[in-house]
Amino acid sequence: MDPSFWDNRARGLGATDSAPVSTGGEENLLCLQNDRYHSEDIYLHEFAHGVANLGARYGISGWFQRLENQYKTAKQQGLWAHTYSMSSSAEYFAEGVQSFFNVNDYSATPNGIHGPISTRDKLRTYDPALYQLIEENPPSSYSFELLLIDLWQQDKKPESFIIENGLRRVMEALADYKSIKVEFFEYYYECMKQKHTEPYIIDPVNPYSNVLDETHFDWSAVASHAKKYLEKAHMKIAISGFCS
Ligand SMILES: [Zn+2]
Repeated sequence: MDPSFWDNRARGLGATDSAPVSTGGEENLLCLQNDRYHSEDIYLHEFAHGVANLGARYGISGWFQRLENQYKTAKQQGLWAHTYSMSSSAEYFAEGVQSFFNVNDYSATPNGIHGPISTRDKLRTYDPALYQLIEENPPSSYSFELLLIDLWQQDKKPESFIIENGLRRVMEALADYKSIKVEFFEYYYECMKQKHTEPYIIDPVNPYSNVLDETHFDWSAVASHAKKYLEKAHMKIAISGFCS
């Protein structure tokens, strides 16, 4: 392997199982003039590979197969012809993510790499199924943060705690997610409390919003991952609780 060749050839790489980190060239991140991909966010492209390979693939059941199927359908329909998107399902997704965030290159006619579909609006109408796949929301980190804060408050808000014990507490709650009932009243009056069906984590600044919304995401998949995680050796010896 010739390092100088690869230094030129690949100015960013997406995370994989064997190398679980995405990389990007500083010239791209800093929008320097010497960037070969000056009109594109290549780091976002590589990051999207990582999200697909290591996140959605394992975290959202059936997601990877749906991407594969959608890629084949798009190819049969002649979508994205003569562009990099059609080189593999992985590139189909990563290029789509670039367009979704309006940071893809544009070519009025497909030039083998890019074509005219380079923005979110165009993507939405040109390939709605891909748009849907990208837009699909995994549970936001916000819902996990709120759950963690609630459990920590329940355990009397210790200023320091052993991380494994806190993690075990959170994983146990996720494993039994159907019983989660989290509400905060710091930012609105209790009379604004809404009737929510369980499970719920209510946004502290919006009593109408349940961020543990089962209609948008398969929380049972999160629960089954949490159960598996609890079987790990360092979880088995941990004590459940935010206490030192
Ligand atoms: Zn790529």
